[in-house]
Amino acid sequence: MLAKVISGTTLGLDGLLVEVEVDVATKGFPKFNIVGLPSKSVDESKERVRAAIVNAGYEMPDTRITVNLAPADLPKEGAGFDLPIAIGILAAAGMIKKESLEDSIFLGELSLQGGLRKVPGIISITIEAEKKKIEKIYLPNQNIIEASLINNIETFAVKDLSDLIFHLNGDKILNCHSKKDIYSLIKEENFQYYFEDVKGQESVKRGLEIAASGFHNVIMKGPPGTGKTLLSRAFPSILPQMEKSEILEVTKIYSVVGLLNNEFFKTARPFRSPHHTTSRIGLIGGGSTPTPGEISLAHRGVLFLDELPEFPRSVLEALRQPLEDGKVTISRASGSLTFPSRFLLLAACNPCPCGYLGHPKKTCRCFPGSILKYKKRLSGPLMDRIDIHLDVAPVDEEKLTNNITPENSKIIRERIIKTRKIQKIRFSKEKILTNGEMGSSEIKKYCKLDDKALGLLKQAISRLSLSARSYHKTIKIGQTISDMKNENIISIESIAEALQYRSYDD
Ligand SMILES: [Zn+2]
Repeated sequence: MLAKVISGTTLGLDGLLVEVEVDVATKGFPKFNIVGLPSKSVDESKERVRAAIVNAGYEMPDTRITVNLAPADLPKEGAGFDLPIAIGILAAAGMIKKESLEDSIFLGELSLQGGLRKVPGIISITIEAEKKKIEKIYLPNQNIIEASLINNIETFAVKDLSDLIFHLNGDKILNCHSKKDIYSLIKEENFQYYFEDVKGQESVKRGLEIAASGFHNVIMKGPPGTGKTLLSRAFPSILPQMEKSEILEVTKIYSVVGLLNNEFFKTARPFRSPHHTTSRIGLIGGGSTPTPGEISLAHRGVLFLDELPEFPRSVLEALRQPLEDGKVTISRASGSLTFPSRFLLLAACNPCPCGYLGHPKKTCRCFPGSILKYKKRLSGPLMDRIDIHLDVAPVDEEKLTNNITPENSKIIRERIIKTRKIQKIRFSKEKILTNGEMGSSEIKKYCKLDDKALGLLKQAISRLSLSARSYHKTIKIGQTISDMKNENIISIESIAEALQYRSYDD
């Protein structure tokens, strides 16, 4: 007897439907086979399915069982096929009405007791099922809210195998889960640190506000103890809430990687701070089953690289293309996969290995050769892709001890939200959201400089021999500074300030 059950898997970030065909022979030697490129974890499902069926109080057929996962050329990963395989066996053996499986998709890992455990990639698979006009999706309880975001599909939370069997046979009906509005799930965020926790450093804070306003990459250079790390940790507190489209993009990535933990959606902007010992694959993505790396986990958020020169040069070089394109392509034997990686790079470094080069009170103890080597580790082309360079000097003692309360993150964030709105309107017909994402064609189309501003920029190009990339970056930052002041045309003051943030000594 034959039964067919629809299930799904992910390929990169996209969902794919998989047909689970089960044949239970009427006679023959007992044998249980899974074919169609199952990975080891899928193959192990035989033991879980057998135990779950028996412990749910049903009989496991003791003849030959063959399970085929189609399409056969796609490698199948994970334990999510447990449930459809069990349902398929019971349907093929006549214990579940086959017609109840139509237009439905089943996903879930089984425990030996017959309980259901959550599986990764639900958002992507549900989106694909909706596209293919599947009407119902049956999922573990813990996955239900992820799927309930997708509108045109009925979602059912399944506690255990016997519950589902009762439902499919019409004996005890499960309730369809109501749809969720994504914005109802967003909670007031609490951050680890706030800008008001850092005294002084007004000009650095100004630079960071510009970076957050226009989504520009930024690096802070300065001795230890000047507040670089604290300001970096406080940076998320000034970033605006993600748009719905951003929440979906980011949630898809976290769902596929299985990093949603107890959250259903990733509503907080990502802030990733990988250590410099993180491998290239860990940072960029890859592996035998290509997985997104830190740069994709930081998509629409911040990638914070502390002690930037400590990262291996090869890793830093690999960041260049994703920084430029907002996506990363990972090649593998059977083709290539693309993951989004539109992140804001926030980097910090000391001026030299000991950290005190140029310090007003402490002496640098580095050999000249090691300073040169240290600077060289920050490759020119990577530095050229960082829009805003900030020097962080030690704060005067007087400022550290006075009673003036620094401006708080909430006020800064409100200003940034206003500046983002201007950009949202500007780019309503484009695929980008911020000034930082503009390419040269958008710069030409949208950025207007007044005559004085243009004059200053031309002068700076020849005097400082700026590269074409540097020229474009200066205009982009100038545009953001003008947006912060609600200026229609980029003024000379905005360009002058933008030029301060370029680095000329690297
Ligand atoms: Zn030094």
